[in-house]
Amino acid sequence: MPTRKADSPAGTTPFDDVAVAVACDEPLARHTWLGLGGPARYFCEPVGVEALSKVVARCHERGVPLKVIGGGSNLLVPSSGFQGMVVRLSGPEFSAIRVDPPCVEAGAGAKLVHVVSAAVQAGLGGLESLVGIPGTLGGALVGNAGGHGGEIGQRIVSVSVMNADGSLAERKASEVSFQSRWSSLDDAIVIGCRFELDRETAETLTKRMQKQWIVQRSEQPSGTRSVAMMFKDPPGTTAESLVYQSGAKDLRVGEAAVSEAHANFVVASVRCTSEEVRSLVEAVRSRVRERLGVELTPQIEVW
Ligand SMILES: Cc1cc2nc3c(=O)[nH]c(=O)nc-3n(C[C@H](O)[C@H](O)[C@H](O)COP(=O)(O)OP(=O)(O)OC[C@H]3O[C@@H](n4cnc5c(N)ncnc54)[C@H](O)[C@@H]3O)c2cc1C
Repeated sequence: MPTRKADSPAGTTPFDDVAVAVACDEPLARHTWLGLGGPARYFCEPVGVEALSKVVARCHERGVPLKVIGGGSNLLVPSSGFQGMVVRLSGPEFSAIRVDPPCVEAGAGAKLVHVVSAAVQAGLGGLESLVGIPGTLGGALVGNAGGHGGEIGQRIVSVSVMNADGSLAERKASEVSFQSRWSSLDDAIVIGCRFELDRETAETLTKRMQKQWIVQRSEQPSGTRSVAMMFKDPPGTTAESLVYQSGAKDLRVGEAAVSEAHANFVVASVRCTSEEVRSLVEAVRSRVRERLGVELTPQIEVW
């Protein structure tokens, strides 16, 4: 719980004596897949765990709201931005990947595709189905990313996290709850994790990964930025089919439109605003509710 307000004397920030480079008013549009979003009041990319701990502890002491950003592929940041600290785990300590057969350990800032490729090259199977999912390992763990071939939470041995006061902890797989596009890790900062995988030949795995990549590319809009997934698939059906059936695929709000390639994605054209994307997602959700009586749950997280 916040204990004190973030207010600091004019010209200073609550982080001036923390020995970590902190930027003010960093445009978050630079860090989101949609390329949208206003500024973060404070923003930093700590070099390692010790620096991160100092920033996190300071936020805790001063009551500064804190959020972590991964690849920004599942985020909708409003034009007003975020009045707090946004941390991005881009430093080398957070993106390291270590293969120790049959296990793989990786930092939360590593790109998911790099973790999958490292495992495949080492002849360790179980993560290939995640290959086309954009973003970082941390974002994937928090949202239990997955698709037809399984979810990331199924292969976890343990996850290292940082608590709100900057202290570190290790959570075993049995202590973490993974559900459809959600995990109980959403109460902490994920630092990294350890997977236990299946030994197979790199050749077999590479073929499987390439096949998965082709399927993913054919089912979803191209990996170019400016798209976002709107809804979670409800049990027994897909959000895409419900959007089609409800006739919502032709909806648009300003420069935000439903993707022609896949009706569960929103496409933001040049000059689109976060608010237009948000309104479109709500309009599609209302249409599905009115016409089909199904309440879709948003996949994209609105800050
Ligand atoms: C083209 C496209 C295709 C997609 N396909 C899929 C798919 O097939 N399956 C699927 O599940 N998803 C899919 N997604 C959604 C998205 O890519 C995933 O949710 C992804 O795992 C998000 O990772 P990220 O690093 O970008 O997280 P972000 O969008 O940066 O963040 C998402 C959430 O995770 C939190 N977070 C990020 N890192 C950490 C950390 N280290 N510690 C604590 N919290 C953290 C953020 O605070 C935020 O709450 C797709 C998105 C796009 C744009």
